[in-house]
Amino acid sequence: MNLHEYQGKNILNQFGVKIQRGRVASSAEEAVSEAKKLNTETGTEWYVLKAQVHAGGRGKGGGVKLAKSLDEVRSIANQIIGMQLITPQTSAEGKTVNQILIAEDVYYPGPNDTEEFYMSILLNRASGRNMIMYSTEGGMDIETVADQTPDLIFTEEIDPATGLLPFQARRVAFNLGLSGAAFKDMTKFVFALYTAYVKSDASLFEINPVLKTSDDKIMAVDAKVTIDDNALFRHKDYLELRDIREENPIEVEAGYLGLNYVDLDGNVGCMVNGAGLAMATMDLIKQAGGDPANFLDVGGTADAARVEAAFRIILKDPSVKAILINIFGGIVRCDRVAQGIVDAYKNMGDEINVPIIVRLQGTNADIAKKLIDSSGLDVQSAIEFQEAADKVQDVLS
Ligand code: GDP
Ligand code: MN
Repeated sequence: MNLHEYQGKNILNQFGVKIQRGRVASSAEEAVSEAKKLNTETGTEWYVLKAQVHAGGRGKGGGVKLAKSLDEVRSIANQIIGMQLITPQTSAEGKTVNQILIAEDVYYPGPNDTEEFYMSILLNRASGRNMIMYSTEGGMDIETVADQTPDLIFTEEIDPATGLLPFQARRVAFNLGLSGAAFKDMTKFVFALYTAYVKSDASLFEINPVLKTSDDKIMAVDAKVTIDDNALFRHKDYLELRDIREENPIEVEAGYLGLNYVDLDGNVGCMVNGAGLAMATMDLIKQAGGDPANFLDVGGTADAARVEAAFRIILKDPSVKAILINIFGGIVRCDRVAQGIVDAYKNMGDEINVPIIVRLQGTNADIAKKLIDSSGLDVQSAIEFQEAADKVQDVLS
């Protein structure tokens, strides 16, 4: 589950990570009143207004702006709230901004320079260990840094038996070129951040930038936090942080129906049982020159009700021009599935307005094929995978 910046920062803060403080608003008037409260709490007179959407690169798209008065807070909030924010990480249509974060200005002048760093925590799947990845090159795309100056990216792997050790936190601070108070504060920051990562069951923390203020404090200015869905049962209080406005509406609906659906850009709808077969099916469609419109795993029970639900989900995507059903009958018999398809089709009638190609393989595949072929419906059947993919191409061309 992905979180908004302000939600991620709240979690960080609960574990003692210093953050750039802020308050959330969903209208310009509310932004002004929240800014006043922030002024009372922190003394800040300048405010950073930040669009809250599940995408990075907001600064580049005009979703992060500095306001130097309450009047500017109002006018900038008016611009940002409700806008379609397009960033390098959104689609071409962008994302609607529903909320903004009004944050204290932490780039104030002082005895030393401000410095921006990059820091993330994630699982290194190759070693099976959590890893802190960090760089002196904060505030910019880490992909660009990795591409152009890979030497400036450091990693620290954590042994799960010992947890993060003090010398490792010191090495982070050292590699970031810090000394004195900032060095000490960075080691504290790294410890708190790692504790937050583990205790919140996160699968990703990305803090870009981590800021060293001009008076040598270390804090998180941005926060991309992803919580591992499989651990959400341990964090009931995080469930309410989900913002389904940020998710694909068809995927949300499929989730409620217990279907594993991922929306893609092509025009061939896929209905498959099992995630491995779904991926193989998408490969085959691609190889035959087509383009999958989705990934849909109906799971173990492909009965009429489930097939019908799956049809309805796939057909919500207007770019679907054909549907390929590819089912392997191992535990579930193919003739059962075929009957399910025929029943669902009859039940839906005209609602199915694209050609359907069914490939059933496994137990009773031949009986299933006869069942489909004699149903009188506009469904083509195949037993071989390649034959099915070719038929898809035929109906599309
Ligand atoms: P992103 O563009 O989505 O990654 O959003 P960030 O939260 O990282 O903010 C983008 C940029 O806004 C940062 O890299 C900073 O340069 C700038 N910024 C953030 N907070 C402040 C602040 O308190 N004062 C000033 N002057 N700039 C800020
Ligand atoms: Mn950022």
